Amino acid sequence: MATLSIVTYPHPVLKQKAAEVTVFDEALAQLVADMAETMYAAPGVGLAAPQVGISQQVCVVDISQPEEGEPKELWVLINPVIVETREPISWEEGCLSLPGLYREVPTYNWALIKAADVTGQRRILNGSGLLAVAMLHEIEHLQGRVFIDRLGPLKRRFALKAYRRLSEKPQPAPAATDASAPPAPSSPPESS
Ligand SMILES: [Zn+2]
Repeated sequence: MATLSIVTYPHPVLKQKAAEVTVFDEALAQLVADMAETMYAAPGVGLAAPQVGISQQVCVVDISQPEEGEPKELWVLINPVIVETREPISWEEGCLSLPGLYREVPTYNWALIKAADVTGQRRILNGSGLLAVAMLHEIEHLQGRVFIDRLGPLKRRFALKAYRRLSEKPQPAPAATDASAPPAPSSPPESS
């Protein structure tokens, strides 16, 4: 397994619609394993293939944030389709590809997703709370969008301005957590 490097916004691959996976082989299993390792190392609760520069419909999610040696609850979503969403909410999200930026954005508290696993078997998954938020955040990456694209034009412009200021400053540590931001608003979450 290997840790992959994460591309940051506005890298063009993050604005591209990812291609459907058609071959479920050893290379795909390796990509999924590497993406999981990259997500745990970041640390983050989700990662989509475009974030490691690969425009394919693959994402991994684990909201359990296991410590070293603890069992993992890894969700692998390949060619995911959002079947249904319920309970619109606003959630403070962050993204490993926009390090340091956190914004309250509209999302859903419940989602029903159809996706293949790494062997190609179709599954139906549903999740609520952070799991729903994280799955929807990652699927959005596969559509060539990022979470601030859910903001209105003015708020989005301000967010981009803040992000540009952040990326000009050297970052002491990547305090980013893809999709997750616990509701404590005082300081940006580190790895929680
Ligand atoms: Zn993200």
